[in-house]
Amino acid sequence: MAEFINMPCPSCGGQLQVRKDMQKYFCMYCGSELVLRQDSEGVFQHHADA
Ligand SMILES: [Zn+2]
Repeated sequence: MAEFINMPCPSCGGQLQVRKDMQKYFCMYCGSELVLRQDSEGVFQHHADA
């Protein structure tokens, strides 16, 4: 079952609810493409740079 996490968009600060098993998603507020990265320290997100 997918877990959801709440994270602020790094671009506009809008609160996003993101599925932990998704690696890419779009901010529903500003449309930024974001990448979710997980490691031993937790979950991070950053802008998707081509
Ligand atoms: Zn945003």
